[in-house]
Amino acid sequence: MTSDTTPDAIVWLNGELTPLADARIPVLDRGFIFGDGIYEVVPAYALTPDGASATVRVPFRIRQHLARLERSLGKVSIDNPFDERGWRALIAQVIDANERAGAIARDQHAIVYIQVTRGVAKRGHAFPAGIQPTVFMMVTPLALPNDAQRANGVRCVSAEDRRWLHCDIKSVSLLGNVLMAQHAVEHDAVETIQLRDGFVTEGSSSNVWVVRDGVLYAPPLSNRILEGIRYGLVEALAEECGIRFVAQEIDEATLRAADELMISSATKEVLPVTDLDGHPVGSGKPGPVYAALYAAYQRAKARETNEVAAIATQEVKP
Ligand code: PLP
Repeated sequence: MTSDTTPDAIVWLNGELTPLADARIPVLDRGFIFGDGIYEVVPAYALTPDGASATVRVPFRIRQHLARLERSLGKVSIDNPFDERGWRALIAQVIDANERAGAIARDQHAIVYIQVTRGVAKRGHAFPAGIQPTVFMMVTPLALPNDAQRANGVRCVSAEDRRWLHCDIKSVSLLGNVLMAQHAVEHDAVETIQLRDGFVTEGSSSNVWVVRDGVLYAPPLSNRILEGIRYGLVEALAEECGIRFVAQEIDEATLRAADELMISSATKEVLPVTDLDGHPVGSGKPGPVYAALYAAYQRAKARETNEVAAIATQEVKP
């Protein structure tokens, strides 16, 4: 049991719904032995469609999350155990099980965690033949940034990126990211912004955005960063807001001279960084580009909520 799951949490493991406390995997699972697996984290909001009174469950940007899951699995040669339809049905099933069990309230935002490992085999580094992937899913409450963090921005620290060179794969081998997250905690910061060879890569669990003279910059997609689902989303939202976006390497001097700095992830959405390594970023307050992107993000959530509600209405009709 972890701090953000309740004793009533229900998980899905290899075809079965089971209480979290009873879920077991063999110690020879290659996820445990080698970190040989991949994962996904999908926000599943509980939002009220326009003109309705009850909330609907909105696994946000689910198509993009499942496409990234497919890409990550492909890059490490693990067969995807389900197609998009299958995954969508499973996600709905696990959320429903947790709502029924009272582990998640119907009006509470949630996070769906999906993990697929290569499976269980006698220990040996190379891929074993003929094994089935281990598939695990859990749902936990989503704690979004609080009002003070939104109003004032958050503090980050920077550090050298010492991870491997396949950061585009959403691998469960996260030791480098774990050390960077701990580095942030030890410096009273919410995130560590990493630099490799003098250029910004990403946070320990977020993408990084810099604003200079009204233009939004992010490092270009490559093997050095994860393509966050919010990477494409923020790019689209910038266009919607008339903000010019440029994917370009960001050197350390540009990072430190930013007018605005932001991080994005499933759990942070888009969040302003107003202090980097103890120095104010720009004015030291969240800026206008952040404000425009955050508002656009909330509109995107509302649009998807209305779409989910419209599909549900169609399905109910004979
Ligand atoms: N980069 C890393 C290393 C991450 O772990 C994450 C998310 O956890 C992201 C970027 C942002 O990805 P997303 O927007 O899909 O949450």
